[in-house]
Amino acid sequence: MKRRTFCTAAVSSLALGSVSLRRAFAGTDSSPDLPAMGYSGKQTILKGSDIDALRASLRGQLLSAGQDGYEAARKVWNGAFDRKPALIARCVGAADVTQAVRFASAHQLLVAVRGGGHSLSGQSVCEGGLMIDLAPMKSIRVDPLARTARLEPGVLLGQFDREAQAFGLATTAGTVSHTGAAGLTLGGGFGRIGRRFGLACDNLTAADLVSADGRFVRASATDNAELLWGLRGGGGNFGIVTSFEYRLHQVTPQMYGGSLVFPYVEPRALLGSFGQFIAGASDQLYTDCAIVPTPDGKRVVVLDVCHSGTQPEAEKELAGLRKIGKPLIDALRPINYVDLQCAGDANYPQGRSYYIKSGFVSGITPAIVDTVTGYLEGAALPGGIILFSHQGGAISRVQPDATAFFHRAAPHSVMMVAWWDDAQDAERSSQWIRSGWQTIEPHTDGFYVNEVSADDSERRIRGTYGTNYPRLAALKRHYDPENLFRMNANIKPG
Ligand SMILES: Cc1cc2nc3c(=O)[nH]c(=O)nc-3n(C[C@H](O)[C@H](O)[C@H](O)COP(=O)(O)OP(=O)(O)OC[C@H]3O[C@@H](n4cnc5c(N)ncnc54)[C@H](O)[C@@H]3O)c2cc1C
Repeated sequence: MKRRTFCTAAVSSLALGSVSLRRAFAGTDSSPDLPAMGYSGKQTILKGSDIDALRASLRGQLLSAGQDGYEAARKVWNGAFDRKPALIARCVGAADVTQAVRFASAHQLLVAVRGGGHSLSGQSVCEGGLMIDLAPMKSIRVDPLARTARLEPGVLLGQFDREAQAFGLATTAGTVSHTGAAGLTLGGGFGRIGRRFGLACDNLTAADLVSADGRFVRASATDNAELLWGLRGGGGNFGIVTSFEYRLHQVTPQMYGGSLVFPYVEPRALLGSFGQFIAGASDQLYTDCAIVPTPDGKRVVVLDVCHSGTQPEAEKELAGLRKIGKPLIDALRPINYVDLQCAGDANYPQGRSYYIKSGFVSGITPAIVDTVTGYLEGAALPGGIILFSHQGGAISRVQPDATAFFHRAAPHSVMMVAWWDDAQDAERSSQWIRSGWQTIEPHTDGFYVNEVSADDSERRIRGTYGTNYPRLAALKRHYDPENLFRMNANIKPG
């Protein structure tokens, strides 16, 4: 009897077409109409029949609240952004991306694009709109002879590093391995070997993109070269990249690095010595410097070091770094590159709430050291981390207009990071950043678009693209005239 009922249902749904067929097998009813957020900020109602047609057109899942997988899919790295999209399209290929983009365009929906989900400002999830989730798109192909790699947009950095290093190859990737390659590359992409090989986006040689009208566009040196120029630092402004192609470099798996920890005593002298030392560093040396609160209410200075030369070269250069103060912990050692790339992962757990401000600085100068240490002396709380990240080298030898990434000359950026697990601490932690940033920001010039905050002004965002902005705005007009892709360090088409 059961079997007969099933057959009847299946046959009648076959006659009604593939949408109904799917429903029959899934045993679900038609989707109800759904309120959704439009990109203009006004609510719209999506018809259940339109939702069902989109679902039927995808190979991946289309999820709404209450369905299995919806809660996990809407979670992003920064737990401060607890948003509920009306729909989540879990794309498994470029065809799914095209369908999702066309649907969003036709219904003028607010769109969030998720690669690795590590947007500091939570821009990869939206309230009430369509989240286009690329996380299932995870293929990586390395060509060891050509020294190239092709990645889908859901790949995480640790996965990329591991595949490339299997052939003794790598390209610049960020310092926390659970970050996504997609967002990182499109905004720039700093990392431990960036001073030798440039930004991740400098190593991006081609990309496939779905533009706002659902067109599939190839960007390379020979096809739509202007688009490739814009994808190298212009963020996710022009469409959704479904495939990234990179140049790889031969890199020894055995590096020299780890942490060097100093007590936070006489910090002006310590940071001043570090500033002098690091200004003369070779391209093989990368050193981030963080002032970190300890559980007992004190602070330490933690240097995160990677030397990609030979061990004798590393030991020779690092002898100077070891002398800037008396280390509490010296954990510098020969270390496998892939292991080093994930050594700091646990410091930035997923799902915790974070608030971040950052900007480029012209060096670790006495003025910035004085400002940072002065703020920490006066601050009521140990607060969060203040981090000087290391840039320069090959990154600064590229002209500011050679790619969309403008701020090439800055040898460092300064970043304030606060976090909380309990919502009650949100205001206190954010205030620690806001008041500190008031004193630190005047020392900065521009900021990294991948570190944009939800409260950054349009003026500040426009300024960070520098004189590249008009060229980027022209590209935006061409590929996304309605500004469908606006959840990013946004370039306005108008
Ligand atoms: C713990 C941590 C460590 C970090 N370390 C570094 C570092 O060492 N170096 C560095 O340079 N940056 C670093 N960052 C910043 C990082 O580059 C950005 O957060 C970046 O956006 C992360 O990319 P994602 O794909 O994970 O992010 P997502 O949140 O998925 O995406 C961020 C934005 O990128 C765009 N986007 C993503 N995928 C696509 C796509 N396929 N097509 C078009 N647009 C897309 C969208 O606008 C989206 O809002 C770090 C961030 C975190 C949280």
